[in-house]
Parts: sequence; structure tokens; C-alpha cells
Amino acid sequence: MNINEKNKSYKRFAVMGGTFDPIHYGHLVTAEAVRDKFELDKVLFMPTKNPPHKMHRPTSDVNHRYLMTVLATITNPYFEVSRLEIERTGLTYTVDTIRELRNIYGEDAQIYFITGADAILEILTWHNVEELLGICQFVAATRPGFYGKDMEQKLIDIKSKYNKEIFSIEVPSLAISSTDIRNRIKNSKTIRYLLPEAVEHYIRKSKLYTD
Ligand code: NAP
Repeated sequence: MNINEKNKSYKRFAVMGGTFDPIHYGHLVTAEAVRDKFELDKVLFMPTKNPPHKMHRPTSDVNHRYLMTVLATITNPYFEVSRLEIERTGLTYTVDTIRELRNIYGEDAQIYFITGADAILEILTWHNVEELLGICQFVAATRPGFYGKDMEQKLIDIKSKYNKEIFSIEVPSLAISSTDIRNRIKNSKTIRYLLPEAVEHYIRKSKLYTD
């Protein structure tokens, strides 16, 4: 448990789960929009360590992704970064993370889990999905124009199978993507204004994404 998890007083908070390779303004705007919309006490950024679905693309070292997330969130008093998944051994399943947070913050805590709609489209394949849907409220963040028939059908399927609603929120700045940022760096294109300056400096200094 790190210092952030010692504060058990938050009763309404969101977990912002993602690879954050790298974190960008789309993620930050999403977290702030959800915090504001649901009047939450905190958003806990949760960089993934060994995502079970990411075996095909090696991600950057988790310590780089963690540090970039800290740099990006440092000026927002509502944002914290958690090392919960980073410090766990083995594969990291979201259901284990939410269970652990319930142990820390209490069974009465209201926990929202925010992630990209593309990830949520796959949710029926996630580990212990039924339990997971019962212990947190999912929020699917969509890029403009993403919310199409596939997404609508998936939300209907989840509702009819598990009687659970998934909230969705469209965030225009999610047009920014980590994949695009990595490609831009590889092709010596600018990434200015797509992510916080401190994160850009960190990427340059650590020579990330240059191959
Ligand atoms: P991803 O495949 O990297 O991302 C899928 C899409 O969602 C990308 O377009 C990504 O954009 C976007 N995205 C990712 N995180 C976001 C966020 N917090 N807010 C807004 N958009 C976001 O997905 P991932 O990051 O690996 O996984 C997302 C979360 O789901 C993680 O916490 C992961 O542990 C969890 N998950 C759990 C299981 C399981 O328990 N079995 C399985 C799959 C995923 P960018 O590339 O620009 O970020």
C-alpha cells in the first residue's frame, strides 16, 4: 500500500485505468470531466502493469509510465496516482484492483471505473466480469464519432445479461491518442500541445518511443 491508499476518507471516487503510454491531455480532460459530472472526491490514476490483453505489443517500462502519469497530474489537487497494480505480481485484473480498493476504502465506497470505450467494448471477455460490474460503475470515454452501433449493441447486451448500466461520456480531446503520439515521435513530428510539457520533456530526456 502506498501513501495515497492510506487516506480512507474518500467515499466517492473514480479509478482511471489505462496503459498511459504516454499519458496525454485526452486522458486528463476525461478524468476531470467525469470528476465534475459525478461530483467525485478524487480520481485515482491506475497505470497498468501487465495487462492480460497487451501481450502483442510490449509497453514501455512501467516506471516510465508511472512517472509520466505523476508529472501530468501533479497540478490537479483532485488527482492521485496509484501504484496498486504496479506493485502486484502476476497479471493485473481490474476485478482484483477494485476488490483491493474496497478493502482499503470500505464496502460503502462508490467507485467509478473510467476507461476508453474501445477497451470497454471487450469487457465481456474480462476476468470475473459479473462480479466486476457489481462492485464498480463503469464509465466509457469515447472519442468524437466513436459512439456507433457496436457500442450501442454492447451496452444493450451488458444491460440484458447483467442488468448493469454503463455510462458513456464523449470527450472531444480524446481525438488525441497515445498511438499517434508514439508514431509522431518515431517520425520526428511535433507532439507539442498534445500532452503536458513536463511529460514531453520526460519523453525526450528518457529517449522514449524513438525505436
Ligand atoms: P488500451 O487498449 O490501451 O486502450 C483502449 C483504448 O482506450 C485506446 O483507444 C486508449 O487510448 C483508450 N484509453 C485507455 N485508457 C483510457 C482512459 N483511462 N481514458 C480514456 N481513454 C482511454 O486499454 P488499456 O489502457 O490497456 O486498458 C484500459 C483499462 O482496462 C486498464 O485499466 C486495464 O487494466 C483494464 N482492462 C482490464 C482487463 C481485465 O481485467 N481482464 C482487460 C482489459 C483491460 P490511448 O491509447 O490514447 O490511451
